[in-house]
Amino acid sequence: MHAWLIVIGLVVFLWLWYSSRGGAAAQRGILSFGKSRAREVTEETVTFEDVAGVDEAKEELKEVVDFLANPDRYAQLGARIPKGVLLVGPPGTGKTLLARAVAGEAKRPFYHISGSDFVEMFVGVGAARVRDLFQKAREHAPCIVFIDELDALGKARGAGVISHEEREQTLNQLLVEMDGFDPSTGVIVMAATNRPEILDQALLRPGRFDRQVLVDRPEKEGRRKILELHVKGVTLDPAVDLEQVAARTPGFAGADLANLVNEAALLAARRRKAKVTMEEFDEAVERVLVGLEKKGRLVSPAERRIVAFHELGHAVCAETLPGADPVQKVSIVPRGMGALGLTWHRLAEDRYLMTASELQSRIAVLLGGRAAELLFIGEPSTGAHDDLAKATEIASDMVRKYGMSQLGLRTFERPRMAMVNPELGAASPRDHGDETAVSIDKEVDRLIQEGLELARKTLEERRAVVEALATRLLDEQQLSGLEIRRALGLPAREQENRSELAPRKPEAAPEAPDPETKPA
Ligand code: ADP
Ligand code: MG
Ligand code: ZN
Repeated sequence: MHAWLIVIGLVVFLWLWYSSRGGAAAQRGILSFGKSRAREVTEETVTFEDVAGVDEAKEELKEVVDFLANPDRYAQLGARIPKGVLLVGPPGTGKTLLARAVAGEAKRPFYHISGSDFVEMFVGVGAARVRDLFQKAREHAPCIVFIDELDALGKARGAGVISHEEREQTLNQLLVEMDGFDPSTGVIVMAATNRPEILDQALLRPGRFDRQVLVDRPEKEGRRKILELHVKGVTLDPAVDLEQVAARTPGFAGADLANLVNEAALLAARRRKAKVTMEEFDEAVERVLVGLEKKGRLVSPAERRIVAFHELGHAVCAETLPGADPVQKVSIVPRGMGALGLTWHRLAEDRYLMTASELQSRIAVLLGGRAAELLFIGEPSTGAHDDLAKATEIASDMVRKYGMSQLGLRTFERPRMAMVNPELGAASPRDHGDETAVSIDKEVDRLIQEGLELARKTLEERRAVVEALATRLLDEQQLSGLEIRRALGLPAREQENRSELAPRKPEAAPEAPDPETKPA
């Protein structure tokens, strides 16, 4: 079957469909096909005041606001401004809201389009829309183009011939547009996604979405602030304690909290009360909780305990072992995207060389999570999967590449599968014999085992401190590296006051020094 036959068939079908809806409407429908469906909002009224509990993200976006408001100053200095800013975070955390607030703060136009608008369209229509969108944006610069649900452009793959091709073309057009303008034109592209791992890698190259901003689920204090924003305009009984509501809603995103306030108000109305009381809030929490549990988004207390010890295992090893990467913060705020907890390492200066003992420390830090599970929970969990893979990789490199094992100085090729490199045929020829292969396996095993032992010993010696830290972490949901060092009786580090966070891509960390995540 010829693809163009399908296309013609569909065009005819759609034309008939449009005609059946009345003459004028039909014409407009067809003529506006290639036009961007983007909504232009010239006077965005949302500001940073309407977004709470995501202070780090706001801080990072202030630069964008400043640029939009004073593009000349940046141009004069020749300062390079990011072309694309990608907001990454679980659903309902306020990504869309933040993008609007950036435009609102800068008082500049805002062109909003959603990735899902492009799915199931004719080939070429999406691309035409993107072209049209950027054309308009350039005419009104400085301004923001916001692409919501960017991943929808990457999700259509495999959903049928037409939508696949459509996706490719739309994506390509987006890349062309982003490459084709100078940042000094003043168009800043913002996009949002909750699934950064499925994005086409081409989008993340320099000159495209080269800046990523993490928009996280809020911690307790943030939740209280968000609740406070949303109860404006709701008649509250004075006895309502939002602090307490915040304490009872770990894992709730901003949208869940907005939903919670609305549920409480609805309940009060149904009961013909003059004010919303704590009783309605209690019941609303239960309702929203049930909904979230059904969606599998909430973590049970037992899981939280495992996550807390696991993350502290990494963090305490990182702080105690020589040459390991210092800790920025440890968090057990659920992050969606499969990660239950996170240890953020501060990136030390760029490393070109690493010593054997530093690599051993690194293996021990990676296995610190598992070691803590064994020590404090009594059995291993699936959460360490990623850690184990990374530790194995390092141990294998130490044996095969760096001559850091009992096998001496020669190097050993890693066996490559035909799947990875089809030109090699079935499998690449090994550069060593079967007996050596056994020895290599043994050495890798030994390095990993030693790393686990080192981590276990480190944690065992500090059992009481780790337990105390876990209690705090479960309560406060996050701890800074400084707090952990204090508890361990270690001095503060010099750069302690610099607050920049190392990770740019927290959930898909390819290398060991990057932050540590664990699949659920
Ligand atoms: P996302 O785009 O991350 O899925 P949205 O920006 O669409 O989330 O949020 C949906 C709604 O939830 C917002 O319109 C707002 O009412 C509420 N909300 C979400 N996050 C926040 C926040 N951080 N502060 C205040 N309100 C929020
Ligand atoms: Mg959104
Ligand atoms: Zn881990």
